[in-house]
Amino acid sequence: MLKVSNISKAYGTLEVLRDISFSFTSGTSVAITGPSGSGKSTLLHILGTLEKPSIGQVEIDNTDPFTLSEPELARYRNAVIGFVFQDNHLLPQYSVLENVLIPTLVSDHGSDATERAYELLERVELAHRTTHRPPELSGGERQRVAIARALMNQPDILLCDEPTGNLDTATSETVAELLFELHGIEQNILIVVTHNLALVPRFQQHLQLSNGRMV
Ligand code: ADP
Ligand code: MG
Repeated sequence: MLKVSNISKAYGTLEVLRDISFSFTSGTSVAITGPSGSGKSTLLHILGTLEKPSIGQVEIDNTDPFTLSEPELARYRNAVIGFVFQDNHLLPQYSVLENVLIPTLVSDHGSDATERAYELLERVELAHRTTHRPPELSGGERQRVAIARALMNQPDILLCDEPTGNLDTATSETVAELLFELHGIEQNILIVVTHNLALVPRFQQHLQLSNGRMV
């Protein structure tokens, strides 16, 4: 379902990823670990179709997304891939509910969208905060909104780049718990870059990067 074959990525003469290959089926959870600068975020960006590999191929459901035109790719990405970043990337001037609805703006989901948004906000235990704006929430709450938003379009692949990196230990545990719980329900491919080694055994797969290579 998600397959990468011999991908490498270079920025000029800087080789960031070298000869990475793997494939994951739906329902799989994957931890990516490695030292700072080892290429974790770059790999996540490539899996998320935000960046093209220099060499090699990405296939999602037997299709190479990079063969799509730029507008087609943007639509495809919005439908198939969800992202959670370390610093939530929520829009501070919009309410929690509006933030969760953002992925539906480019595609027409009608009233079903609002229903799903409420349902997701209930699952992340923020049903009572729908009209609040992100600056009024705690870091953990903001990250829970970001998770709800990422799941809005029922993505086949959920990519999280150090989602608990800015949170204290207890909050980080709550957010991780939530990610696993939602993964159990959504049965997507969950890929999480993390520095928290205690979390690693809870993933089905572990991909370790060192200097751009899988070890
Ligand atoms: P990690 O997430 O594991 O810390 P990154 O994937 O962010 O690592 O970065 C890996 C290497 O690639 C670093 O040396 C970084 O400076 C470099 N890099 C990342 N993005 C770019 C870019 N757009 N242009 C040039 N170098 C980059
Ligand atoms: Mg990174």
